[in-house]
Order: sequence, then C-alpha cells, then structure tokens
Amino acid sequence: MKGLTKIQKEVDYKATLLPYHKTIDRIINTRLFPCLGYHAGKKVVCMECGSSFDGNPAKGKAVCPICGKTLNVEESKKRTFKEIRCFLYSMRFQGWQVNRYFYVQKVCKQGRAVSMQVHEVMQRWVNPLGKLVVRAKSFRPMSYYRDAWNYDSELKTRPYTKHISTYYYVDKYDIGYSMQHTVSVLPELQRNGYDGNDHGVVDVVELQQLILTDNHVETLWKSGFFEFAKLHDKLSEYWTEVKICMRNHYHIEDVGLWKDMVSNLRELAKDTHNAAYVCPENLPMAHDRWRHKVEDFRKKQRFLKQKEEIQSEEPHYYERMKAFLGIVIENDVYIVTPLQSVADFYREGEAMHHCVFTNEYYKEAKSLIFSVRDKKGNRISTIEFDLDDMKIVQNRGIQNSVPKDKKNIDKLVKSNIRLIAKAKASSILMAQAA
Ligand SMILES: [Zn+2]
Repeated sequence: MKGLTKIQKEVDYKATLLPYHKTIDRIINTRLFPCLGYHAGKKVVCMECGSSFDGNPAKGKAVCPICGKTLNVEESKKRTFKEIRCFLYSMRFQGWQVNRYFYVQKVCKQGRAVSMQVHEVMQRWVNPLGKLVVRAKSFRPMSYYRDAWNYDSELKTRPYTKHISTYYYVDKYDIGYSMQHTVSVLPELQRNGYDGNDHGVVDVVELQQLILTDNHVETLWKSGFFEFAKLHDKLSEYWTEVKICMRNHYHIEDVGLWKDMVSNLRELAKDTHNAAYVCPENLPMAHDRWRHKVEDFRKKQRFLKQKEEIQSEEPHYYERMKAFLGIVIENDVYIVTPLQSVADFYREGEAMHHCVFTNEYYKEAKSLIFSVRDKKGNRISTIEFDLDDMKIVQNRGIQNSVPKDKKNIDKLVKSNIRLIAKAKASSILMAQAA
C-alpha cells in the first residue's frame, strides 16, 4: 500500500532518505545483550565468542581469555544462547521524530562464532503536531506473537487508525522493547520538556504524541511530575488534585493508589482542594483508611434506602395481608406465624441469610410467608405458602438450606390449612366490602 494521506506520502518519501547510523550497530553489538558465560564443573563457556576456558569465577564475573570480554557468569550446563530482543532507536529527521524498531536475534553456541541477525521491523514517525505514521513489515497471519514478523516482507506505510488516549483500543504497533536510545529530539518536543527519557511511565511514542498534544502531560513533563502521566486518559478529571500535588512538591510512586484515594475522598464529599487530604504523608495508609470509610458510607446508604423502601411498603403489605396476620400454627415443638410487617421480612432475611427481603416477597400477592420458630423463639426456617394453589412452595432454613425437620414442619402446616383457608375467605370478603 502506498501512503494515501498527505503526511503518509511525505513519510513514504522521506523514509527513502533516512540514514542508518553506525550508533545503531554499536549499541546492538555491545549493549543490547548481556555478556554471558555459563559455568559448569571447571569450565566456563563464553557466549560472546563461543570458546571455553578453565575457570572457577568468583562473584559471577570472568574475563574471557580469547575475546577479552568481561562476562557475567551464570551457573548453568547450557552451552547455547539464543534470544530475540527489540531495540528502539529514536532520532530526529527532517521535521519528524522517527522511532525505529530493530528485532535482533543473537545465537551463540560453544565452539561456533556468534551470529547476530538484525531486522528493522517498524518505524513510527511522529510530527510536531503529534500525528503518527506507521511503517512496518507484516506480521505472520494469525499470530498473536509480536516475534512473528515476516522479515522478508516490505517495510512500508500501514493504515493506522488509533486515536491517542483511547483506553480500550489495542494498538498492535505498540510493541515492547528491551532497550531504547534517543539520539536527537525534535525542537517542539524539547520545548515541551522531552529529552528522550520516558521515565518508564508511558510507551515512548505515545508519550511523544501526548507531550505535543496534551497540555496536561506537557505541564507534568516540564515540571518533573512524570509519574502522573500514567493517568493520562484521566488527567482532566483529576487535574485540580494533581495541581495541588505539584504545588506541594508531592511525588508518589503509585499513582493508581492515589487516584483511588482521591475518588474515595470525593465520594465522601471531603475537600479535595485541601493538601491535607490529597497529599497524605503515608499514602497506602490513607488509601486504606478512606476505602474503609467509603465502604461504611455505602453500607449506610444502602441501609437508608432499604429503610425508606420498608416504610413506603408497610401500608400496602398490611392492607393486603391483614386477614392472615393473626394466624398461629403450633405444636409442642414449633410455632409458625406469618411475617407481620415488611420490617419483619428484613429481619428474617438478615437472620436467615436468604433473599426473602431482597427479592421483595412482601410484594407477592399470592405468597403468604411464615416464620417457623422453636418454643424458645429461635428461627428454624421460612415458608412460602401459595394462596392460589393452597400449598407450600418452599421451606428454607438458614442460607437456603433444607431444614432438618422439614417433613414434620410441612406436616404441621398442612394439618392446619383450614386456618389459612378461613383467613383467605375473610380476606376476599374484606376486599369486596372495600
Ligand atoms: Zn569470549
């Protein structure tokens, strides 16, 4: 595909002029991979030149007598080193910041010369307006692995639609790298505080775009509050509080924790313009404290809502069930009575850990709900009785378990069904009279 837009065409052309710096090879050859030696028995194998020599290296260091390199020696019987690493080289070129991705495969075997294969697989070009053009080789189809570059394919402009700061979009060109080196920086980036260091906060290219397009990120970068750039997609939302941190020279490691704390403070209607809240001395402690407060607060809110619901439903429940409320069914062991009020449903549900209240059984016109207790008043189970079919629908113990003596409890209720039938008849009469 040829570049379609104006800037893609510009990049297509400029890419043909892009120089290859010797620095790229120098870094790849000397710094991208660790100088490794494997030690086993009395031998050390040098993974820089493939030769082996006698030695018992102290403190994991040894100098190879053949190639002269200082090796980090690992205890291992391995005799082969094979690894792919990605090197990102960033340079300014003809009004663009060009980020170049090199996939390097290093293979070293005992007794063989080292082989190093270098493939430039991608370039991400950023202009002073923060616009991005991607040139890349193709991935092997159906592969989820970034290592699956098709090295033989052409490095060319690829269609690219990602908007910066889009949270859910997975950018297939946002690949990791083992090492990055910035040799020169666009003046516009420099002006906005960027010197090539990403401070480990955001992907280099995304960062370059943000610094050029997002005033908040630019401000953070200029003032050295890099860590807050992690919140880049939520910066506007938290900017007031971030500014308070900057004013108070308040640096933090875990901005995620800080953000959660601020959001909790807001829910609790605390003054988040106050540094005493926003810049606590001990962040993890403050975070936990406010989280507990928020949990209590939410519980209370839920309770208030339930209370309101109970109060508004009470008259309806009474009106519908008043003919049944006087029923008492008992024998020597149990006493079975209807729940007398909506508040009773709440208490029954809480005590029995089931959903008789939360599922609003007090609104079910055909359901008569009984609480079964022993003679000491302990709750045994809850019964739903269907007033249309005149039969027990369910009889549940604590946490919806089957009550131990279910058979006898059911039998007791069934043998008193005439009490329920009588109440039902008077209920119908009352309704007709009203
Ligand atoms: Zn060597």
